[in-house]
Amino acid sequence: MNDAVSITRDLVRCPSVTPADAGALGVLENLLKAAGFEVHRVTFGEPGTADIDNLYARIGDSAPHISFAGHTDVVPAGDEAAWSHGAFSGEVRDGFLYGRGAVDMKGGIACSLAAVLQYLADHGGKPKGSISFLITGDEEDISVNGTIKLLQWVAARGEKLDHCVLGEPSNVEVLGDCIKVGRRGSQSGTLVVDGVQGHVAYPHRAANPVPDISRLIVALSEEPLDHGSAQFQASNLEFTSVDVGNTASNVIPAQARAKFNIRFNDNHNHETLRALVDERLAKACGNRIRARIEWQPSNSNVFVTKPGAFTDLAVSAIEEVTGRKPELSTSGGTSDARFISSYCPVIEFGLVGQTMHQVDERTAVSDLEKLTKIYRGVLDRYFA
Ligand SMILES: [Zn+2]
Repeated sequence: MNDAVSITRDLVRCPSVTPADAGALGVLENLLKAAGFEVHRVTFGEPGTADIDNLYARIGDSAPHISFAGHTDVVPAGDEAAWSHGAFSGEVRDGFLYGRGAVDMKGGIACSLAAVLQYLADHGGKPKGSISFLITGDEEDISVNGTIKLLQWVAARGEKLDHCVLGEPSNVEVLGDCIKVGRRGSQSGTLVVDGVQGHVAYPHRAANPVPDISRLIVALSEEPLDHGSAQFQASNLEFTSVDVGNTASNVIPAQARAKFNIRFNDNHNHETLRALVDERLAKACGNRIRARIEWQPSNSNVFVTKPGAFTDLAVSAIEEVTGRKPELSTSGGTSDARFISSYCPVIEFGLVGQTMHQVDERTAVSDLEKLTKIYRGVLDRYFA
């Protein structure tokens, strides 16, 4: 059967806890091949990580090209005995489909596939442009052998994505309340203050980094990085630890360190943000305190898909099915959209996230049906 409920159930029955595939991509491959897609199964790996199966499938060879992205891997079931119905059963009870991945995000993938199959059946088996699926088995864990490499692989074949819908569970309370159109960037660092070690009884012969790091922490925390932007809340620098590593009570330590993380909006990128914080640190140090920041490498840049024709057609498809006008949100944690955004505009819209990663993860069957209609509405508008 090609409906969203059957496809979700078939996917949930594959216990594809990262890095295992457990047959999940095969479920999609069979349906996609039968519908005329050219299907590629690509395995990526690198030293120290597990090899991961990925799938890229496309039908059509002209523009515009819309891609549905997602991940078939899931987090572990946790205490399986605590589930009301088997964690990998895909059982439907009282209008809900139960199982790990039901909302995050096998249900979302199933709805997009069901919508595409319907669309093709109604249009002689061919889209007016191209439709693809970009599906990875490596999102929930370290995310190194998945979407980031699959996008490079697709680009190396000379293929270009024009727009992408990522079916992560974007809704907070009810279907239709939220489209994610961006995410804040993340940058971590360690503040290091050098002093001079010495005996506490002779402080004039030492330089104590402890009071100095306290002053610097206050200085860097207090001054706002910005006041937000059109689509984002204000950026925030948060200290998370202070470490001296001193076991003696009569020794002034030689060095103090403090870790912090910054969640930043589109007023910054990694380079300008680091320069801003380095400059504020230099000012706070004057020519007395010796301090520096060790910046950590980060692949989590800020991105935003500006409101326009693409977000409008999604909003309109959602409104038609749910009667709700979704908020265009940039809140929350990170997802593979951060990688996709380097290639094309991307929005995230899927099921309701309430039970994701919990015991008894489940989705309303009616939500699977509505989400399929919404994706179908997106396709109709996209190729109109
Ligand atoms: Zn997810």
